[in-house]
Amino acid sequence: MPLPIRHGRRAAARVRVSVSADAFHHMAMAAAEAAIAAPDLTRESYRLLEAWNKERGTTAIRRAKLPPSLVFSETGHETGGALFGQIERTAGVTEFHVGRAITTSAIRSDDGLVQSDISASLLADIAEAAGLPTVVGDFHTHPAVDTSLREIEEQELYSPSEIDLAGENLPHCEFSLIVTVAWAGRSKRLGADRPNLARRRIGDFLFYMTAYARGRRWSPAGEDFTLAIGG
Ligand SMILES: [Zn+2]
Repeated sequence: MPLPIRHGRRAAARVRVSVSADAFHHMAMAAAEAAIAAPDLTRESYRLLEAWNKERGTTAIRRAKLPPSLVFSETGHETGGALFGQIERTAGVTEFHVGRAITTSAIRSDDGLVQSDISASLLADIAEAAGLPTVVGDFHTHPAVDTSLREIEEQELYSPSEIDLAGENLPHCEFSLIVTVAWAGRSKRLGADRPNLARRRIGDFLFYMTAYARGRRWSPAGEDFTLAIGG
């Protein structure tokens, strides 16, 4: 028997995410720190590097395969964590109120972040035991401190990547935030905020924040997904 075919897409519920100023500043600082503070090589990494250099002989560095445990990053690292807050569900609208953000341990590189399922579950357990708001979402950062603002805007580097959209949610996490960190320098023109894209300048840094849900269409126009950074 053929399977029934469904026509059309069921209208998804609207989602609103509001982020407290505290939570935003915490994520912004974590994003800048991970992007700027270059990780030191460990003693073991130096040992591997020396052995590799000896083995390399006269091969050009660009053509030689690097030892797998070394990370050479020009852009800094991504970081990420869990978001804590409340969920309000009314007919057709889900509102997430994010009050706090906590960075979690993860494998970090300049083009990716691998977080453990255990982090979100453990934090949710502790929050429950302490009577605190629970985990509602996660966040990760896009380090773009070596990229011009024009390039960021043209290529929309603040958007979720295909991998971001295809991944599975961590336990308790129904949506995700991205904080992209860039150098604003002396630039005065920062572009206008959009429903699902907020820009904030802190010192010489410019931060972009966007919200998305895995498996759901993403757009800065935010027809059904809007973001606000509150007081
Ligand atoms: Zn991403």
